[in-house]
Amino acid sequence: MKLWVNGGLQDQDTATVSVLDHGLTVGDGVFETLKAENGRLFALDLHLDRLARSARGLGLPEPDLDEIRRACAAVVDANPMRLGRLRITYTGGLSPLGSERGDTGPSLVVAIGEVGRRPDSTAVVTVPWTRNERGALTGLKTTSYAENVLALARAHSQGASEALFANTVGRLCEGTGSNVFVVLDGRIHTPPLTSGCLAGITRRLAVEWTGAQETDLPMGVLDSAEEIFLTSTLRDIQAVHRVDARELPGTPGPVTAKAMEVFAERAALL
Ligand code: PLP
Repeated sequence: MKLWVNGGLQDQDTATVSVLDHGLTVGDGVFETLKAENGRLFALDLHLDRLARSARGLGLPEPDLDEIRRACAAVVDANPMRLGRLRITYTGGLSPLGSERGDTGPSLVVAIGEVGRRPDSTAVVTVPWTRNERGALTGLKTTSYAENVLALARAHSQGASEALFANTVGRLCEGTGSNVFVVLDGRIHTPPLTSGCLAGITRRLAVEWTGAQETDLPMGVLDSAEEIFLTSTLRDIQAVHRVDARELPGTPGPVTAKAMEVFAERAALL
């Protein structure tokens, strides 16, 4: 596998960045995960916009988006595959422990891995940890994902593929790597960005294409919603057939099935 590191393609097995890179030592990096289908990068512009926003939010130097586009194209060309998960990582470069900080500038790594299709439905669990809807990192897609790693491990230990967080005031927020939607009285709702969730690109497209409403929702809605689904770059729209001990028979329900259909049709045209 070839990946891009700071200016050129390298072999994944031998590619290096400094062990003092800020992204490694303190975690102030930002990232994006994109879907590459037969070499086609889905919603690249939206991902680059969010990467630049996240970098600004963290006070990193403005990323060179033209270079990132070139890097993405080079990585996709060098690694042909049917469905790939392309990952852009952009960090502050060497940490203050390294005397060269400032000389090297930020680090850019673009890598790709092959993935299989996700199943149409999945199980999720809720976790007792909260998302901070008013934190310094709220809404930024940073490499500080350790809390998500813990929550996901808990989900996996319970036979689920995703963990859902409430925010600090007990409202429904998001998953470790996905946004959440519920169907109430036949209408689709998703928590607003003020809940502290990431502005998911799939979320945004799903809202636009299905007419879903942004609604502040209590966690208890997971006990009563007629249907529940997740959105993310690699899941697209994925129905939820179990939340904690609650089974949702007949998944995907009619509203979710329609949303999946509309999403697939519109995404193919994007
Ligand atoms: N929420 C979090 C915390 C995420 O990390 C992600 C994606 O990785 C999402 C939501 C979904 O965002 P997108 O649809 O852009 O993949």
